[in-house]
Amino acid sequence: MLRTLITGGAGFLGSHLCDRLLSDGHEVVCMDNFLTGSRDNIMHLNEHPRFSFLEHDVTEYISVDGPIDYVLHFASPASPIDYLRLPIQTLKVGALGTHNALGLTKAKSACFLLASTSEVYGDPFEHPQKETYWGNVNPVGLRGVYDEAKRFAEAMTMAYHRYHGVQTRIVRIFNTYGPRMRLNDGRALPTFMRQALTGTPLTVHGTGEQTRSFAYVDDTVEGIVRVLYSKITCPVNIGCCEEISIIEFAKKIIGMANSHSIVTHDPLPEDDPKSRQPDISMAKELLDWEPKVDREDGLRRTLAYVLDKIEHTIV
Ligand code: NAD
Ligand code: UDP
Repeated sequence: MLRTLITGGAGFLGSHLCDRLLSDGHEVVCMDNFLTGSRDNIMHLNEHPRFSFLEHDVTEYISVDGPIDYVLHFASPASPIDYLRLPIQTLKVGALGTHNALGLTKAKSACFLLASTSEVYGDPFEHPQKETYWGNVNPVGLRGVYDEAKRFAEAMTMAYHRYHGVQTRIVRIFNTYGPRMRLNDGRALPTFMRQALTGTPLTVHGTGEQTRSFAYVDDTVEGIVRVLYSKITCPVNIGCCEEISIIEFAKKIIGMANSHSIVTHDPLPEDDPKSRQPDISMAKELLDWEPKVDREDGLRRTLAYVLDKIEHTIV
């Protein structure tokens, strides 16, 4: 049986990966320190015979008993408000956490997968972004703590591959949404949905002409798993190609929620990328992967989750 460690496994993406790999028959060891994740995300797995949880900060030496086949390194604050309030932890988990996770991978002769991000492209001059694009990142800007941590993590991953011969994978994940996002994590989608469902104004940053391409979590998880099971060592973009402006997106959510909320405009945060859209030809050609979930369908499923959270919890 394959045994897999997922760091950041109590987070949004990590917890969906726990579900997916358990259903693929893996034994899953989930590691998290709950910096931005939640016990609620993995509560349903507590009694699962092939699931275990280790509370640990991966910036400290990582020790796991027994064999490990795969290490998926997902630990890191991921939403802009999280990494802006946790700048040092973000840099440490990208640098020290990645080093520790790679060290464990090497010691166990396992295969390592890094959760990288479209943020390595910064505010891009190339559009859509191909894996060959080196990016346009401001290292001393506010977002630099996240972008540079991930760029360092990619470099460290390649160094372990080239120098130590460790099997590695790098997935550059683009904006993903779905159930288990925190309603107060500040990302556009859960924020707009919460605002629309509670009848408060939707806080669009700037004019809202900046664009993003949002993928539903099931599609992203499928893409990540295909990269994991492949032999591809270079970075692979996983994301949705359907680009939408943030103002259009806000209006779409108001419509789908049958809301009477208005849109207000806050200042655009520093270094907020003006556009973002992945070129996914590599994933299409080599992994036969592309997003399948229709936007309306994904948004409807997420709205139902957000509504349920609003009704049952204090956010
Ligand atoms: P998240 O905040 O929900 O999950 C991150 C998890 O990592 C949390 O459970 C948190 O507690 C944990 N964590 C943070 N620091 C840790 C530490 N030092 N030790 C142990 N655990 C730690 O975020 P997410 O959206 O699920 O993102 C997961 C990963 O995917 C991140 O690495 C992120 O950079 C990457 N990613 C996500 C997206 C997206 O759209 N969600 C896009 C690109 C990349
Ligand atoms: N955004 C917004 N209002 C919000 C939250 C976000 O207009 O309340 C904007 C944000 O400035 C960015 C886009 O929506 O231009 C996507 O933001 P998100 O935090 O979801 O992801 P990222 O910026 O990391 O792509």
